[in-house]
Parts: sequence; structure tokens; C-alpha cells
Amino acid sequence: MTITGNHKARKRFGQNFLVDAKIVDRIIATIAPKQEDNLLEIGPGQGAMTLPLLDKLTQLHVIEIDRDLISLLQSFNKDNLIVYEGDALKFDLNTLPTPLRVVGNLPYNISSPILFYLLKNRALVQDMTFMLQKEVVERMVAKHGNKTYGRLSVMMQAFFEVELIFIVPPESFEPAPKVDSAIVYLKPLRTNLINNTTVFEKVVKAAFAQRRKTLKNCLKLLLTQEQTTIDLSQRAEMLSVANFIKLTKDYEKQH
Ligand code: SAM
Repeated sequence: MTITGNHKARKRFGQNFLVDAKIVDRIIATIAPKQEDNLLEIGPGQGAMTLPLLDKLTQLHVIEIDRDLISLLQSFNKDNLIVYEGDALKFDLNTLPTPLRVVGNLPYNISSPILFYLLKNRALVQDMTFMLQKEVVERMVAKHGNKTYGRLSVMMQAFFEVELIFIVPPESFEPAPKVDSAIVYLKPLRTNLINNTTVFEKVVKAAFAQRRKTLKNCLKLLLTQEQTTIDLSQRAEMLSVANFIKLTKDYEKQH
């Protein structure tokens, strides 16, 4: 299937449209939508995922920033499609029915801000299925001790179960991106292990600010070795997510 139409892809909106019907089918199978689910699609574009989702749902909410694509989506004339125009990062998720299942082939230029925005709103979220650059998904799922393990890995795994589902080659898109993409599935962890997300983020950010330095060095403005049982002579990439949580608790005790 090739999506027809004369929309010229806009780079500034990270537009790479899915044109591979088999990949679309696999994504829909991964989402496995049930009729009454509250689905939100971020960046529906020309509707590659939207149309098959509409066939399965009583209602589908979509948020799209590109006005030209808004007109195209409205021209589908689907009663069960609710289109919002604007920036997904400014959209108030509280206005939608919950729990939310969020899906999308995300604009790559703002994929991290979207992930962090949803992290902050995770109480509203049932699960999320996204297409992202493969390299980003690899960082999201990386375990400690790995080169790709970093701030994104810790922040995502502390709050979500994260799974790389499958890899998507550049030819599946129009225009084709330069790199592979991947489908990632995220589900909020049932037990909230962190009291204060902002404090956790601050500790994780400081720890990875200078990857080659020891934690003692990176965290010197936050806590000393005497204030924690975590060995600060190691580098941040050696510290498990559980130990980052412990480290943050030790930091919170001091403040
Ligand atoms: N879902 C379509 C597909 O798979 O073919 C399009 C995916 S394309 C990678 C990303 C889409 O997100 C584009 O339609 C783009 O206009 C839209 N977009 C970009 N930035 C956005 C933002 N801040 N808020 C909402 N949508 C955005």
C-alpha cells in the first residue's frame, strides 16, 4: 500500500510517513485495540495507522500539529475520529477519557520531550506503543553495564516496563529516514518506586552529566559517600535502576 495524496513531507514536523501495509498491520496487532479503549494517537499524519485503528474503535482521539494534515484527516468524515489541532507537548491529557492508551509514529525531533511529557502524566496512562528511532529504543531498554545505558534508560525503566517489539527498516517510510526505527511498548509499573520525579530526574541527570567521571565526582554537589551505601567510586553506567532509586532516597534523607 502506498498512501496517495499530494502532501509534501515537512522536515520541521519530523514527517516520515508509513507506507508499508505489513508494518502497519504488525503495529496494529501489537496495540491490539479493544473497541472501548481510550486511544490517543500522536501525529496521525496522513492516517496510515489512524484508518485501521478507526475500524476497530468506538472513538479515536488524535493530535496533529500540521494544519494541512488536519484538513486531510477531517476529510475522512469518520464519526468516531476526534481531531485536535496543536502541539502534543502542550495538550492537556486531563481532558481525555482515561486510562489512556497512547500510540504513534512519533516525530523523531521531539521524541524525548514527548516521552518525558508522558512520564509526568503517567497516572493517566494504561500503556503506550510508539515508533521511534531504533537507537533511541535501544537506549530506553539498555541495562546497566551497557554502553547505551544512560539517563533515558534509567528514567524510562524506573517508571515503565519497556520492551523493544520489532525493528522497522527505512524503506517502510516516505520519505525514508537515514536510520532504522523500532516499535517500543511501555506500561507504567504498578508500584510507584519514586516519591518525587523531579528529584529523581535531578540525581540521574547529574550522575550522567559526565559519563567518564565517577559518581562521587558527578554528584559532589548533591551527596557524599558518607551519606549513602551506594559505592560512589563507580561510574553512573554501572548503577542499576534500583540503585538509582536507593541513591535518590539517600539524597532525599539529607534534604
Ligand atoms: N502517523 C503518521 C504515519 O505513521 O505515517 C505520521 C508519522 S510522522 C513520523 C509524525 C507526525 O507527527 C506528523 O504527522 C507530524 O506532522 C506530527 N507532529 C510533529 N510534531 C508534532 C507535535 N508537536 N504535536 C503533534 N503532532 C506533531
